[in-house]
Amino acid sequence: MSAANRASQCSTLRLSLGEDKVFEPNTTLYAQCQNSYYAQQERNLSPNCVVRPAHSSDVALVVKKISLLNLAGSQTKLAIRGGGHSPNPGSANINNGVTMDMRSMNTVTVSSDRSIVSIGAGALWSEAYPMLDALGLSISGGRLSNVGVAGLTLGGTAKLCGSILYHNIDFEPRRFVLLLSTERLCL
Ligand SMILES: Cc1cc2nc3c(=O)[nH]c(=O)nc-3n(C[C@H](O)[C@H](O)[C@H](O)COP(=O)(O)OP(=O)(O)OC[C@H]3O[C@@H](n4cnc5c(N)ncnc54)[C@H](O)[C@@H]3O)c2cc1C
Repeated sequence: MSAANRASQCSTLRLSLGEDKVFEPNTTLYAQCQNSYYAQQERNLSPNCVVRPAHSSDVALVVKKISLLNLAGSQTKLAIRGGGHSPNPGSANINNGVTMDMRSMNTVTVSSDRSIVSIGAGALWSEAYPMLDALGLSISGGRLSNVGVAGLTLGGTAKLCGSILYHNIDFEPRRFVLLLSTERLCL
């Protein structure tokens, strides 16, 4: 891909999303995103730009713009980054493409009857657990606080319902008691 094509990917996205959501190399937020991956092999990849959607409408816009670029022959590839904990190079970052960093979409809300928890696509377990703890609720999830809820749920090494609960008995006995007392073993 030519330098002109690379620049056009990011400028198209910046025009649609705004200056504050698209970051190119040599900017602080680009570096922050790169340096916050768990694995060095993910940090070593260099996207042409990082986009940080704030709402689902931004996500839709990114996908639409990249589809349009590709229809025009751009061959732009997209990586999606949640917590950034996966060690596999290319799973959540990309060379010569666009990385969509979901970390700005990290809100956790509980319905008024406390039966449904909505967790943002970029939230970490460290953002979900405290919110639930404060309400006397919990969830069987990741053991490490810096793991993303979405990445784990979509196919990380642990499942929401099952073996991870067993591991949590050792590390967080109080959480296990809460789970039993509410009989809510899974979301
Ligand atoms: C050494 C090691 C130790 C680990 N220890 C633990 C542990 O103690 N506890 C634990 O729970 N897990 C652990 N894991 C596994 C970890 O849970 C998985 O790697 C998990 O998939 C990471 O999710 P993430 O969102 O942080 O990662 P990411 O790397 O950001 O994402 C992982 C995958 O999910 C996709 N993805 C992420 N968010 C979204 C989204 N919103 N929409 C669409 N796709 C998305 C990414 O594209 C990527 O393919 C460990 C892994 C390793 C290598």
